[in-house]
Order: sequence, then C-alpha cells, then structure tokens
Amino acid sequence: MLILLTNDDGIYAPGLAALERELSRLGEVRVVAPAKEQSGVGHSITYLTPLIAKEVFDGEQHWGWAVEGSPADCVKLGITQFCPRRPDLVVSGINSGLNVGINVLYSGTVAAAIEGAFFRIPSFAVSLEFHEQAPYNKAARIGRALIEQVLEKRGTEPQLYNINIPKAALDSTPEVRTVPMDVTQYGERFEKRIDPWGRAYYWATGTPPPVMSEQETDLSAIAKGFVTLTPLDFNLTKQSVLAEMQPWQLRLENDVDAEAGSPGDRRLQRRVVASTRKQQQVTPGQQD
Ligand code: MN
Repeated sequence: MLILLTNDDGIYAPGLAALERELSRLGEVRVVAPAKEQSGVGHSITYLTPLIAKEVFDGEQHWGWAVEGSPADCVKLGITQFCPRRPDLVVSGINSGLNVGINVLYSGTVAAAIEGAFFRIPSFAVSLEFHEQAPYNKAARIGRALIEQVLEKRGTEPQLYNINIPKAALDSTPEVRTVPMDVTQYGERFEKRIDPWGRAYYWATGTPPPVMSEQETDLSAIAKGFVTLTPLDFNLTKQSVLAEMQPWQLRLENDVDAEAGSPGDRRLQRRVVASTRKQQQVTPGQQD
C-alpha cells in the first residue's frame, strides 16, 4: 500500500513524524508537507506564484518534501509529482489541536484529506487535543489502528474520515464513537489588548461552545473523552433546497440594449483605457 502523508503544522511537526512511523507498518509512506505551519488556512491553494518544494533529509536519507504552500497544495503535488504511482491512501496529521465542530471547515488538516478525496482516494484527517507535551506516539497508534480497521470494513472505496483524539483517551483504554460533526457556531470571541504604543489589537480566542444538542456529536463525544470518527463529504449542495427550488421559474430580462452601460460604467471604461495607454507609454528604462 502506498500512503501519502501530509499535515498543516509543517514538515517538522512531531505529530507528522509520529504518524509516519506508525503508517510505515501499513505500507510505503511518502511525506509531502508544508514548509511552514499552515493551521487554519482551510482549503486554500497556490496558483499566482510558483510552488517551491525542497527535499528534507533524516541524516543521509530522504525523508520527505517540504512545500512552500498549503496542505491542499501538498496533496495535489504529492499525488501528481512525488508519488511513483497513485497512492492508495491519503492521511493528514497528527494535528496539534482538535478539528471538531465547525472548526472542520477552517482546518488545513481536514482540507488536505478533502483534497485526497477529490482524487477519489480514501482519506483521513487525524487530530489530537492540544497538549504542551503531547504524546504523539500514543495518538499515532490510535490513529493507525482506526485507519486499518476502517479500511478493512470499507475496502478501498474512496471515503473521507475525520478522526479526533482527546487527551483523556490517552490516559486509559481509549473508546471510539462514530458521530456526526457538530454545527454549533463558536469562535466569535476576541480578546482586546493594547500594544506597547497604545494601539488596540484583537486575538481570536474561540473556545468550544457548551454542548447543547441532544444528539451525540463530535463535540459532545470528545467532551466525554471518546475518540471520534466522522465520515465527511465535500458536496456542499443543499439537496433539499435544490428540490424545493425546481418549480420557482426564475426569469432574467433580456437586457442587450442596456449593455452600453450606465454613465458610471462609461466613466470606469474611460479610466481603464486611460490607464492602459499610460502603461503602454512606459518602456523599460524609462520607469522612475
Ligand atoms: Mn494545525
């Protein structure tokens, strides 16, 4: 089995190294990870600038590729450039910090797994509750054991999963719950502070909300100390509303005559033409 491993904490993160060691028990692992931390970048990609990738060594041995880009960039490059063939599995993590509730949508860790799922490859995001001296080896064993079992059950049919491990699960025999993602809003809190020059600045604190829903979710199960496993989907179309909208008969005017534009549009056009002419007049060597 060929496994592409990435993360959003960067190529030197201890969670990545721990997962690399564990996943090596399942197959051949290729590491392609961001050169710098990319937490919270979501599913951003790099396309206005080139992507630089540098080889990272462990002693004399090639260990992986460090990419000056996002986690999603790493998966795209990893699959198309750095894997000798199409990988059988994409894993992202272990992230330092949980990716539960709506945080799933801000997460670079989860975005990398979603990118793997775009390629129709089974993909997993693995996150551990933030902990100063996090025992990543223990968390990596839990992650690997779950991935192995899910693959046995599902086969290699492409599917996307989110695994979260609370601190409490590392101190006893861990138990797992398969639960949905919580969608309660949170993270609206900011701490206002004053810098040395008397200017205000703001720091997002974003603590999780109190668990309200009756149904067990990733947030409530994590609060009880369970490891959580959530199947995800990236299809954002709301099918129920789409069906409801079919009889709406929405119409747009045929406004060909209005194409000439409003006086405002014409003013804008003149300005664009003028600035284009100005640019054309400047030839190399004449710039000041
Ligand atoms: Mn992170």
